[in-house]
Amino acid sequence: RPRVGVLALQGDVREHARVLTELGADVSLVRRPEELAGVEGLVLPGGESSVIDKLARAFGMQGPLRAAIAAGMPMYGTCAGLILLADRITDGITGQETFGGLNVTVRRNAFGSQVDSFETDLTVAALGDPPVHAVFIRAPLVETVGDGVQTLAALQDGRVVAVQQGALMGTSFHPEVTGENRFHGRFLDIVRAA
Ligand code: GLN
Repeated sequence: RPRVGVLALQGDVREHARVLTELGADVSLVRRPEELAGVEGLVLPGGESSVIDKLARAFGMQGPLRAAIAAGMPMYGTCAGLILLADRITDGITGQETFGGLNVTVRRNAFGSQVDSFETDLTVAALGDPPVHAVFIRAPLVETVGDGVQTLAALQDGRVVAVQQGALMGTSFHPEVTGENRFHGRFLDIVRAA
């Protein structure tokens, strides 16, 4: 059984833990460096990226997380988690930092106030049929996809909402709230292969 963690500083931690448990993983909540050292992969939940960034620095987790990413630990971030894995962000709050690892530029709250939240079906070739029912909640967009980054999903107009680079994966939307478990399954496959 893959030993995986959910970063549990803020956000929808429970929802991720439930999906991963359903898929047969041995799941723990990660708040401290010692807990990070005990897992083979990590999910970064949705929530508020600026808050998770601040708490990670306050808990002494930023350095260990960056080191784990550099060492190749598989990670999957949804929404705020995607923002935290991005090398570059636009519309961050002043002083907001990320862990980085994905060679992308992400725009926070990219869909503006009128459509803060929406749902749509996405064709994701890497996952096959059926399409992914995706829920976007004050979601970010991947504005620039750098070298080495694979686009996993885009909206009909081409805007990118899911990416992978090596062992790192990120989605703008929240599979963990719709019973969609294929992204988490793909993440666990990456963990088993690592
Ligand atoms: N807007 C949030 C942020 O900037 C992300 C929202 C979410 O995770 N659903 O972190």
